[in-house]
Amino acid sequence: MNKPSNSKVALVTGASRGIGAAIARRLAKDGFAVAVNYASSPAQADALVAELQAAGGKALAVKADVASAGEVRAMFNAVEAQLGKVDVLVNNAGVLKTVPLAEHTDALYDQTFDINVRGTFNTLREAATRLNEGGRVVNFSSTTLALNMPGYAIYNATKAAVEAFTHVFAKELRGRNITVNAVAPGPIATSLFLDGKTEEQIQTFAKMPPLQRLGQPEDIASVVAFLAGPDAGWVNGQVLRANGGVA
Ligand code: NAP
Repeated sequence: MNKPSNSKVALVTGASRGIGAAIARRLAKDGFAVAVNYASSPAQADALVAELQAAGGKALAVKADVASAGEVRAMFNAVEAQLGKVDVLVNNAGVLKTVPLAEHTDALYDQTFDINVRGTFNTLREAATRLNEGGRVVNFSSTTLALNMPGYAIYNATKAAVEAFTHVFAKELRGRNITVNAVAPGPIATSLFLDGKTEEQIQTFAKMPPLQRLGQPEDIASVVAFLAGPDAGWVNGQVLRANGGVA
């Protein structure tokens, strides 16, 4: 808690691990006070907050299932009370299970839409009235939306919804100097991507981009840092496909 009390505040959903944790680290390094949201990994969120604080940053772990409007409202209240009003919202929390549409269950459909779409909706709705003037919103789509691979129908549908939110919300915030953009990563080496895949499948994905490797969480964190920072002030309502050139 050594940062100046006037440091800007970033709220990163799903920041206990994977891409979200890398974003939290990068934004803390860039001087933001960072709220590390998690749903079911308190130990990892607490460890990350301790790490950020040990490095001299201001950070807070905040539990909320983004699919719950009430928990998201309470999360914004807690962040405002302990860190201050939010300047940067990163809607990173998301889930993926690849299942052919014909075999998809109602429960998995609901879970995927509840977290990826309703979760983004819940935070955007709070952000609409609470974000500081000059703020930034970074949503999470996926390059899979451009690849149309079998098994991704429901997940891609959720990310199409997120892209739709991004374009419209950017216009609805007219007059507040707030930008709203989305990042659409290609394959990134996190448990969301790696779990359930054979080594051969992983290597096939790794060879897809002309840069011939899997992305790392830090590759996406640096894109988010750009969109959240002063250099991206004129980028608004866009989807940035950060994928090593895969699509
Ligand atoms: P990950 O490693 O599986 O991490 C997911 C994070 O989301 C975790 O911190 C998890 O926290 C959190 N989360 C899950 N459900 C939540 C909920 N209901 N409320 C709040 N937090 C929740 O995934 P990732 O690869 O970092 O993915 C991050 C984002 O990038 C997702 O939106 C994903 O769709 C997108 N993306 C990923 C890839 C890829 O290849 N990895 C590619 C394109 C797009 P808990 O453990 O605390 O639940």
